[in-house]
Amino acid sequence: MSFSHLGLSLEINKALNENAYKIPSKIQEKVIPLILEKKDVMARAQTGSGKTASFVLPILQLWNEKKYEGKAKIKVLILTPTRELALQVSQSFELFSKYLEKKPKLVTIIGGKSIGDQLLDIQKGCDIVVATTGRLNDILDKKQMNLSALEFFVLDEADKMLDFGFEEELELLLKQIPKERQNLLFSATYPLKVQNIIAKITREAIEVFI
Ligand code: AMP
Repeated sequence: MSFSHLGLSLEINKALNENAYKIPSKIQEKVIPLILEKKDVMARAQTGSGKTASFVLPILQLWNEKKYEGKAKIKVLILTPTRELALQVSQSFELFSKYLEKKPKLVTIIGGKSIGDQLLDIQKGCDIVVATTGRLNDILDKKQMNLSALEFFVLDEADKMLDFGFEEELELLLKQIPKERQNLLFSATYPLKVQNIIAKITREAIEVFI
């Protein structure tokens, strides 16, 4: 199995080759086709499994197929429990969109950096937001971010997010995003509290265990 069999474009495959991604990992092999079929996915996957590329690649593919025009609106929101993970996800989007004719505008919303700069970047228009929950909520409180055009909602490391006590923030956020959206959820463990939050996000997720 190679990446080109998974339905990814030549441009994305070129970036994959350049970064020595030759063979999809187990999670990538299972999750990428489901996302391309527009399914909600709940994947149980550890760090190191290749989970980041399993959602970054198909989201880029679907985003690129749509050929959005006009000022960019936030179509993709990815929530991560830590700044490090947010930066890693953002880097992955940048790496794999290198050869796309039109590259998505991406903003990373994390604590420890100027909130003013982040607000400016959002106001200029962006397609993808990668955020940690705390800073995202600060910005949402200021009513400075319009999520009404959102199409993809990704929760990365859901179990860690709940361990950090972000349940309430997550529920607040869910009230502010469109109900019609594709949900992609990743968690290393699957305790009851994770299952409960997942049930609030989607009831249609296809479960992938690797
Ligand atoms: P992740 O589990 O997403 O944090 O990825 C773990 C590491 O594996 C990262 O350094 C990725 O760049 C790398 N990686 C993920 N998928 C592949 C792949 N199919 N081929 C080569 N390296 C990969």
